[in-house]
Amino acid sequence: MSAVQRIRNLGIVAHINAGKTTLSERMLFVTGRVRFMGEVDHGTAAMDYLPEEQRRGISIRAACTTLRWRDCVLNLVDTPGHIDFGAEVERTLRVLDGAVLVLDGVRGVESQTEAVWHQARTHRVPVLAFVNKLDRAVADWTRVLQSMRARMQVEVLPAVVPLLGPEGITGLIDVVSGTRTQWIEGGEVAADPRQARAALVEAAADVDASILEDFVHEREVDALRLRAALRAKVAAGQAVLVFAGSALRNRGVAELLDGIVAFLPSPLDAPAVSGLGGEVRAPSEHEPLCAFVFGSVPDGQEELAVARIYSGALVPGALLQASARAEPLRVLAMWRLHAEDREAVARAGPGDILALGGEIGVLPPGTTLFAPGHPIALAPTRLPTPVLSVVLEPRHLADRERLEAAVRRLVRADPALEVRHDPERDVLVLTGMGELHLEVAGERLRAAVGDCFRVGRPEVARRETVLRSAMGAGEWRVPELRARVAVGLRIVPDPGSGPARVRPGAGVAGPGSADLACAVSLCSSLQGRLSIGLRSGWPAHDLEVEIVSLEVEADPGVDLMPLCVEAADVALRRALVDADPRLLEPRVRLQVVCPHDALSPVLGDLRGKGVDISGVDLDGDVARVAGTAPLARMLGYATRLRSLTRGLGSFRMEPAGYAPAEGGEV
Ligand code: GDP
Ligand code: MG
Repeated sequence: MSAVQRIRNLGIVAHINAGKTTLSERMLFVTGRVRFMGEVDHGTAAMDYLPEEQRRGISIRAACTTLRWRDCVLNLVDTPGHIDFGAEVERTLRVLDGAVLVLDGVRGVESQTEAVWHQARTHRVPVLAFVNKLDRAVADWTRVLQSMRARMQVEVLPAVVPLLGPEGITGLIDVVSGTRTQWIEGGEVAADPRQARAALVEAAADVDASILEDFVHEREVDALRLRAALRAKVAAGQAVLVFAGSALRNRGVAELLDGIVAFLPSPLDAPAVSGLGGEVRAPSEHEPLCAFVFGSVPDGQEELAVARIYSGALVPGALLQASARAEPLRVLAMWRLHAEDREAVARAGPGDILALGGEIGVLPPGTTLFAPGHPIALAPTRLPTPVLSVVLEPRHLADRERLEAAVRRLVRADPALEVRHDPERDVLVLTGMGELHLEVAGERLRAAVGDCFRVGRPEVARRETVLRSAMGAGEWRVPELRARVAVGLRIVPDPGSGPARVRPGAGVAGPGSADLACAVSLCSSLQGRLSIGLRSGWPAHDLEVEIVSLEVEADPGVDLMPLCVEAADVALRRALVDADPRLLEPRVRLQVVCPHDALSPVLGDLRGKGVDISGVDLDGDVARVAGTAPLARMLGYATRLRSLTRGLGSFRMEPAGYAPAEGGEV
């Protein structure tokens, strides 16, 4: 087996609190990477090393670590579970070759479980499942499997059968080999291991004709062939193999690690990557270098870029090029990450995940790195638009510059954040994916510059558009000079098409004429104006402005631009009278999961908020509510739902575009 075949790049994904971090900690311990077992509950988890994570007991940044198990190298990425950090999950998934989906053995499939499962499917990442918390007496292995089958629309195949006693899980049977592991005495098999094996053989027969033949003739199928066929099935996304245990008590973790080695693909099994220009790179050291920056980790006040190599080899001192950068960059040092610690590496190849510093460290996630002379750009991850803003205000004018510099550093490292200067209020406006995202951004800023600024209340980022196409003409005169401009405001057929565009119409002077030059610079000045809206101060979207005609009277050599801009302004304002301008606000698709007995207060509350409820679904003692709502109505919902459901409810929100705001005439 080649070195690349022995690499497994995998992520751990789950609903919040399912036990991702605890499981990662146990993997570190079991593989000998750390000598003590970190505990999320005591803030000692090595993977949640950022202060904002230890305080909340949740993971926020995708952390990365390298483990050795048997003769394999496992690059493990612990991803954040909260939807506000969905972009981070998304970017992480695309560079991974496989994922472990952790389920809570008591709660089964939760709202965010489904969300990350769909993300994994979208990126064609093969998945193994780990049913966790089976040490709890109320855990129910069979019900978790049922909920997976009902909600994940995939063949769900147990790879182990747990032994369960009154104290929860006591041991395991490996279904493929029949090997039994027992940690404490007692416990009964949760299912018949022979039936479980027959199910695996039947599933494997789909992808392996020789197994089909053995199956038909009721011949024994050996473990080696069975594993290989199941691995192909997992890689094709046709099945999810399920493991079981308790991360907290370190049961079933070694068996899961064996499963990762046996069933998840190596970088060689992944398809070759292709660039936007059709370039293809196979996972070989002999191909030109191609790597993708998917994250960053703090390094004192600086950042290190975290990248996955797809092809070629990398050594310190090498020259690289980066997409959107003209000059080559030198690799000063390369590190393998172990959460907070790191280890310098002398050579890396396909499948490796590395942190790179120096000039490369400041490159934003989404950057492709390539060998000079062999350009390739991998498609950047599509990120949802940030929708929630806060105003950042320095307490003293003297702190302003420091604050601005720190904000820009933060935004560079996290493409899901945006910053702009609001000229009217003369403040910095930071926009992000949600309340938690902005809260954490605020904490990071405080860690960098101290408590020298105030954060305003979150407000929803709005947009402006028009509901009808309209025309308008305007004139502006000063002695001896005159400009007349006519504009057309057009609605575009597809909402969500993006910021307003301005273009010169066919009627504006022929090519090469002086008027055309004038129209072109008028366009760019109007474009700037539309980014702060027609009337409201919010950017104009989903419309087109055409300069229909442009007449000027003046002596040659006079700068007419200010005159034209004034005339265009009058024309725009006149057109707006007929165009029915509207404010748009972001909406979200919402899924709430709560205990059955909390359904009626939850529904009542949602109706009170004006949520458009599209479905209520009862599933045992769990109820699911789906609907859409303006984001502004959902601020603070996490706290509200917690109190309505005694902490048992969970919800997920995802952006559902923009729609006219209530009373949104402007
Ligand atoms: P994450 O949000 O998915 O990273 O979950 P954590 O690893 O932070 O765990 C969430 C909570 O569940 C913590 O209080 C853990 O101690 C607890 N937990 C994790 N794994 C287990 C388990 O196997 N059994 C039990 N009983 N609790 C667990
Ligand atoms: Mg965690």
